[in-house]
Amino acid sequence: RPRVTPLHPPNVFETMTRLALRHGAVNLGQGFPDTDGPPWIRALAAEAIRSGSGPAGTPANQYAPGRGDPGLRRAVSAHQHRHHGLSVDPDREVVVTTGATEGIAAALLSLVRPGDEVVAFEPFYDSYAAITTLAGARLVTVPLAAPDFLPEPAALEAAISPRTRILLLNTPHNPTGAVVPAELLTRIVEVCARHEVLILSDEVYEHLVYDGTHRPVASVPGGWDRTLTVSSAGKSFSLTGWKVGWVTGPADLVDAVYSVKQFLTYSSGPAYQPAIARALEDGAGFLAEQRGAYRAARDELVAGLSSAGLHPVVPAAGYFTVTDLAPLGVSDAAAAATELAERAGVVGIPVSALCRPPATPGEPAPLASWMRWAFCKSPAVLAEAVSRL
Ligand code: PMP
Ligand code: GLN
Repeated sequence: RPRVTPLHPPNVFETMTRLALRHGAVNLGQGFPDTDGPPWIRALAAEAIRSGSGPAGTPANQYAPGRGDPGLRRAVSAHQHRHHGLSVDPDREVVVTTGATEGIAAALLSLVRPGDEVVAFEPFYDSYAAITTLAGARLVTVPLAAPDFLPEPAALEAAISPRTRILLLNTPHNPTGAVVPAELLTRIVEVCARHEVLILSDEVYEHLVYDGTHRPVASVPGGWDRTLTVSSAGKSFSLTGWKVGWVTGPADLVDAVYSVKQFLTYSSGPAYQPAIARALEDGAGFLAEQRGAYRAARDELVAGLSSAGLHPVVPAAGYFTVTDLAPLGVSDAAAAATELAERAGVVGIPVSALCRPPATPGEPAPLASWMRWAFCKSPAVLAEAVSRL
């Protein structure tokens, strides 16, 4: 039979988590909380699975409606209005997905055609490149630069060609923690409007903002009509394993996403969805408490990394801080990540893994000397990592 090789290499997050397990290292690599998520939200899903029906009496162990539990779609719509002043029709302008990951995949696969170009700011979340390839399109990257890692509209405009179909934007940003201000978002929307480019905005860290304010692209002038917004309960409610996400936007764009989602998974976990609906409705206290805890964790890790000589960028949002290891004489953070796991017992993610590989082998990768460290971990774990470093 034909010889089969994997389409993609193993992803960096699993690879680094395996490395941490192998060396008993503290894992500041993969971004997930080392807690179990709020007990009251977990209890809702557990009870739904046990009894067979969710809070609204919907079946909890059989297929959910393809576009998502109507209660969750209403809760997403109310959330968009409460937090961002957006009016979103829960029946026509929301689709529930299996995590933001499926939302991104379904959006790209439905909107991008072979030969199209997709523009993303670099570094970027790894699935963007993988799905762009699956769609038969070409990823064009625009570099973000230290110290603020904010997108530059002129550089974006220079990267757009007549083949550009969509801009992938991520604010708050993984891995740098940058939050794009409303004025800059408006200029980005203007560039996209000039060139008839759609926007896929990944806003999964919308509730993990410590300095400044997150504004959805969809809420700035001209933004709504050309933007699909992706978010996820995984990050907001510390339930990354539940994989409950959603995509919102104009009905024709959401219809396109659903047309693909129906053949990726058909529908997403029915016991989780009503529980997340309640979390969106009643979770303001949890979100505020979590924000405070993560702000403290960020400050703790930034101070610890500074005392270890690592010069961290203070992130305004998200789960991560990034550091340039060049001042320590390290030019290849990917090699250093393996060495640190073995010799120091601490794992981070080389930022180059969130960049396009260099066009010619041997050429240095973008941000080759930068490392990402997760602070969505308990204070004792962060303290142990710092002391080992
Ligand atoms: N986008 C970004 C920027 C992320 O950091 C993550 C987290 N893994 C995702 C998308 C995927 O989210 P989910 O776990 O809901 O699929
Ligand atoms: N978003 C998380 C990160 O960037 C986890 C991603 C994953 O494990 N696929 O680390």
